[in-house]
Amino acid sequence: MVSRLRVLQFLSASALALVLAGCGAPLSATWQGFPPDATGQADGKDTPRADAGPDCAQVKCVALTFDDGPGPHTESLLDVLDEHEAKATFFLIGKDVVKFPDIVRDEAARGHEIGNHTWSHQDLAKISVAAGQRELSKTDAAIKEVTGAAPTVMRPPYGTIREDHMKSLDLPVAMWSVDTFDWKTRDAKKTVKAAEKVVPGSIVLMHDIHPSTIEAMPKMLTDLKARGFHFVTVSQLVGDPKPGTDYKTGRQAAAGN
Ligand SMILES: [Zn+2]
Repeated sequence: MVSRLRVLQFLSASALALVLAGCGAPLSATWQGFPPDATGQADGKDTPRADAGPDCAQVKCVALTFDDGPGPHTESLLDVLDEHEAKATFFLIGKDVVKFPDIVRDEAARGHEIGNHTWSHQDLAKISVAAGQRELSKTDAAIKEVTGAAPTVMRPPYGTIREDHMKSLDLPVAMWSVDTFDWKTRDAKKTVKAAEKVVPGSIVLMHDIHPSTIEAMPKMLTDLKARGFHFVTVSQLVGDPKPGTDYKTGRQAAAGN
């Protein structure tokens, strides 16, 4: 009995020590995300960035996508997405990845998909293949440097890309089927309204650099969830996207599911 008591005393002392040690390291007010090695994303090869998610051939899925970030409003968007257990895809501008590396790291750590949107938002219909490849590879490297993993998908700025660029790509191309025109209206209500056109398999185009888009998100997510939608990344929606192929939609669950 004595030895058991000593063990108990030792255990409580250890627990107390842990609590005290914890006091010296206050938890941050905002979640900083897992380090890359804790999420299995460190090598960036063969390890999926996020889990497979719901089976979009069976249940209604939609891929919400956000272009032109990261920016000063992105972190509040990440919090709204977390509150609704929604995963999304972010198409990043390379020169802003190096400006806001912590936000990009946080996007990846929270299970969102990271896409390449060129280094300086170039129209790939207007520049040479070599120049386009420089835009993309510089951005790939910046994202890999920050998150530990290369992007898994790309979206050409303005949704325009020539066939010769297409053939040179080693990433799948994500276009969209629902344009919210959030960049044009800058009106949260109109952005919410635009999402009424979402059907199973839709890819929705938005931009996380506009405050009105972030403002639209709680209602848009609530409305879509009430209609039975699951919020997934582009790769989860499509299933197994192929490099050099463009996707406007993903898998579509049969009506009634
Ligand atoms: Zn763009």
